[in-house]
Amino acid sequence: MMTHELPDLPYSYDALEPYLGEQTLHLHHDRHHQGYVDGLNQAESDMDEARQQGDFSRVRPICDALAFNYSGHLLHSIYWQCMNPGGGGEPSGALMEQIENDFDGFETFKQQFLAASNAVQGSGWGVLAWQPLGQRLVVLQAEKHQNLAQWDVVPIMVLDVWEHAYYLDYQNERRRFTAGFFDVVNWDFVAERFEQA
Ligand code: MN
Repeated sequence: MMTHELPDLPYSYDALEPYLGEQTLHLHHDRHHQGYVDGLNQAESDMDEARQQGDFSRVRPICDALAFNYSGHLLHSIYWQCMNPGGGGEPSGALMEQIENDFDGFETFKQQFLAASNAVQGSGWGVLAWQPLGQRLVVLQAEKHQNLAQWDVVPIMVLDVWEHAYYLDYQNERRRFTAGFFDVVNWDFVAERFEQA
């Protein structure tokens, strides 16, 4: 099984001075980001063990740890690469075209991205993301990246477990509802999404 590793910074620790100091990058990369990588490896090994023992009683906290640490690892890996010593200015080409199209110009995009980032409550991220369904760019806030998502995943198969999805048929018996799901899964569709991903 693959274990995750902390990627090197794509530049030296003092390369972004004076915007970010050497000490900030050492602490942020070597300690914080490393912590997510270690936590992710631990959570994946905990889940392996649960499968081997057939004991899923800790599935909730392990899923929580997987989401928190994977999302932290992924978002930091992107973050480092989003900066470089000779950076700045404006994008060009297809990216610029898409931004101008989806945000009514680069300046407006910048204002929206900064406003969204500034308004994140507590720990979190400002995110520019590609939205496949609408084939457009969107600005999102990721507040509490640990909330059971892993940021770059592509959903292959989903099951709605909100009560509205089963209450009339199963009342409070979600387990009977979820078990029945596997009697109706369209594996051809799932396989197709898998191949696309
Ligand atoms: Mn961080």
